[in-house]
Amino acid sequence: MDCERLSKLIKSWYHQVQDEALAPARMVAFMEKHIFECDVCLLDPKVHQEVEKIADIVFPPSKRLTKKAAEEEVEEEEEVQASEDEDEEDGDQDDDY
Ligand SMILES: [Zn+2]
Repeated sequence: MDCERLSKLIKSWYHQVQDEALAPARMVAFMEKHIFECDVCLLDPKVHQEVEKIADIVFPPSKRLTKKAAEEEVEEEEEVQASEDEDEEDGDQDDDY
């Protein structure tokens, strides 16, 4: 990571996340916002990967999924197929010899 500002910010955000003063999701959002706005980060091709790695530590994908699933508590109605037509009589050949 080339950006000193970002590494300092990450440290301070990380402490806040540990103290539960900052939501992990928000920290991830802040990091992403920074790398899109910072001149140093924009020129750093590796920063995206590093931010992603840190995001995985503070906010693991499994946690993201559970949180998302909890937020989307929409009961999906099962599509009942009413038409079960199986009257296809194709070639009932009785070969009685
Ligand atoms: Zn930066």
